[in-house]
Amino acid sequence: VTATVGVDVGGTKLLALAVDEEGRTIAHRRVPSAQGFDAVVADVVAAIEGLAAETGAVAACLGIAGMVDPEGTVAFAPNIPGLRAAPVGAALRKRLPIPVLVDNDANVAAVGEAAYGAATGREHVLLVTIGTGIGGGLVLGGRVYRGAHGYGGEIGHFTVDATGPMCACGERGHWEAIASGSALDRMARELVAAGGGHAVVAAAGGDRTAVDGTHVALAAHLGDAEARALLERLADGIALGMAGLCNILDPECVVVSGGLVEMGNLLLDPVRRRLAVHLEGGAFRPEIPVEPAALGERAGAVGAAVLARQLAG
Ligand SMILES: [Zn+2]
Repeated sequence: VTATVGVDVGGTKLLALAVDEEGRTIAHRRVPSAQGFDAVVADVVAAIEGLAAETGAVAACLGIAGMVDPEGTVAFAPNIPGLRAAPVGAALRKRLPIPVLVDNDANVAAVGEAAYGAATGREHVLLVTIGTGIGGGLVLGGRVYRGAHGYGGEIGHFTVDATGPMCACGERGHWEAIASGSALDRMARELVAAGGGHAVVAAAGGDRTAVDGTHVALAAHLGDAEARALLERLADGIALGMAGLCNILDPECVVVSGGLVEMGNLLLDPVRRRLAVHLEGGAFRPEIPVEPAALGERAGAVGAAVLARQLAG
């Protein structure tokens, strides 16, 4: 059985899996994320070398949270300090005895979910990762869509409200600015500042200054009407951007991953309802299912291992 190695490097941890041809994980490594180019490369090399020695893996792929070009150079990685115009692919190819690819973390997660997760067997998949921001991966016609320079699929950064709140990227009213975890944090603070949100404040232990989106989720879970109304507003914002992307791409399904998915159907049910409303001709076309991701934190590493197979010949 031929194994390949998939590595996922995010802002907090490195997860590396040796995966066999049936998608089974046969060995793994996990370490906290390093900072800086040399340390990140050293950790990735150590993980791949260790797993290759242990399992006989013949190729590897690294998914990393940043903008990655086809050579594997990381142009910009906002959550991994010290990576700017960093030739990660070249450094890995120089040091490793097996072939290795570098790709964006959301791209590899989309491949993982399409191969063995919530979108198994599907050819047209939109992956939406909703955490602090919104990221995404596109599998179109069975292949990852990366654009001309490798930077495609940045689905959080298109304008849905030109007069809306500022986005972390410096533009106004991007989807991410109205429909992410940080958007829910802001809505929670605004509710409390306006004198409302008593159940939300209670969920924060009575500390008005500590209120964030997690307390909205808690209060909504307990049935609080104000918290549920905020989640409805967030869900409508999520559905608004999702509908635009579905109008453009017409995927078979949308897979939602990231921290906000932990709310489950409390969030996804209103997203599904509002998607049907915002989608062009929603009543006259097949439903586009919105499913929670199935592979959790393993999605990126599993997908990277799947992509590495194309190097295995
Ligand atoms: Zn933006």
